[in-house]
Amino acid sequence: MLPYWEAREKVVATISAQAARPAVETVPLEASLGRVLAEDVSADRDYPPFDRSTRDGFALRAADLGQIPATLKLLGEVKAGEAFAGRVGAGECVQIMTGAPVPAGADAVVMVEYTELKGGHVVIKRTVESGANVVPRGSEARAGARLLERGVRLGYPEISLLCQVGNARVLVYRRPRVAVLSTGDEVVPVDAQPGPSQIRNSNSFSLAAQITASGGEPVLLGNARDELGELERLIRRGLEEDLLVLSGGVSMGKHDLVEVVLRKLGAEFFFDAVAIRPGRPAVFAACQGKFVFGLPGNPVSTMVTFLLFVAPALALLSGAAAPPLRFLKARLAEPVKQRTELSLFLPARLEGTHSDVAVRPLAWQGSGDVVALAESDCFLVVPHNVSELSTGAWVDVLPRNG
Ligand code: AMP
Ligand code: MG
Repeated sequence: MLPYWEAREKVVATISAQAARPAVETVPLEASLGRVLAEDVSADRDYPPFDRSTRDGFALRAADLGQIPATLKLLGEVKAGEAFAGRVGAGECVQIMTGAPVPAGADAVVMVEYTELKGGHVVIKRTVESGANVVPRGSEARAGARLLERGVRLGYPEISLLCQVGNARVLVYRRPRVAVLSTGDEVVPVDAQPGPSQIRNSNSFSLAAQITASGGEPVLLGNARDELGELERLIRRGLEEDLLVLSGGVSMGKHDLVEVVLRKLGAEFFFDAVAIRPGRPAVFAACQGKFVFGLPGNPVSTMVTFLLFVAPALALLSGAAAPPLRFLKARLAEPVKQRTELSLFLPARLEGTHSDVAVRPLAWQGSGDVVALAESDCFLVVPHNVSELSTGAWVDVLPRNG
């Protein structure tokens, strides 16, 4: 059976090779968080645009501080947003505020804490090197230099940069529309009163949340009964969107019909089982020009397989690169015993703070146990064929991510 990293690689390779670049749209800068930039962005001028003081103090010539204390003649002051008209010569200085341009002739700033004003003079009590407390013009970026590349997902530093170079509106890729279809005769809508053997359709909502968090736009198609006609009709509807994600109906049961219908519609299957628990029967296919994920219906399986396989697909369909799967390391708070060829993703909680962090697996009733998952903040990753992990061992942790 396919290990999960190979399954993920298959998703990334297949979609990278086949998906077209998404359409673009323009959004206001303040609405661009999490969107994917659709054009390169360059510096409109030098950054900083002038030699900028990083301190409140006195701008002077470092060469004048051979003897400390040194007494310099005060020429005037310069605030942020202003420019000093004159020039600082030998034995002279100008009072300067943080963010103000350093006057011509000066090459350093001494912090106000190390000075004393005496009439029209300033006594400097500390020496500084040339360039101290000054960020030279153009040292962060030269005019025309590329600052952001197409395909970057916009976080707050990128938004700050877009603002600094004057983008009130931003060209981004359209969010992929993702059809969400749950399946199962036992599944009823959230606002229905379930019968004694029925359950509410939580997968559509957890999937919609994960899709939104991954930069997609969920399109909820409700639930299909385990019946060929209805399933086919709703799958066809789902194939009208950029991506189709199904939950349930991919196991070995008599009424697991998702693969049957997809096959009938001409699907090509890239995998239909992955060596993980939860989530083993996960399906990835292409059907009528669209990619389709059939995720197992147990809620925790649906969530884990989304994280591992659908999230990178959505990144690619959003015009971004697929983020590498990255685990964090923590020490195990209690031993874990397992014997399986499957890699495990167990609901777990991080404990402790700063660099003293341990991870504790939570007691759970298997892949239907959302109660345990809601108490978790990460998954403990137990590699396949590892029978025992002892307390204090360094283990892999996958943050829950929303
Ligand atoms: P399946 O993958 O269809 O065999 O379903 C596996 C388990 O997940 C069963 O216990 C289902 O009742 C449950 N399940 C299936 N679909 C949903 C759903 N949309 N919301 C919550 N649980 C579901
Ligand atoms: Mg089912």
